[in-house]
Formats: sequence, structure tokens, C-alpha cells
Amino acid sequence: MPTYEYACKDCRKTFTLTMTLGEHEKARVACPKCKSKKVEQQFAAFFAVTSKKS
Ligand SMILES: [Zn+2]
Repeated sequence: MPTYEYACKDCRKTFTLTMTLGEHEKARVACPKCKSKKVEQQFAAFFAVTSKKS
């Protein structure tokens, strides 16, 4: 099952949820800390691969 990472825009908490693709599509994600619905999905770290030469 994929893991989705979210960040709350109100309290800046980041949290992860594991759910199926179908659940994700209709999910109403709320922050577990402040219950805000203003959460933003974070994209997985593998999209942000940087290659640094040392
Ligand atoms: Zn929050």
C-alpha cells in the first residue's frame, strides 16, 4: 500500500498516511494535531533526488 506524506499548513506538522489508491482519491485528510483540513501533500523524497559530486 502506498504511503502518502502530508504537511499541515496551519501547524506545520508533517504526517504520513498509508492507504490504497482508491481511498486516497476520496480521502478528506485532516491534520491529526490541529484537525485542520489545510494539508498539503508532500511528494516522496525519491522525486527530489539530487546528485552531488564530491
Ligand atoms: Zn495541523
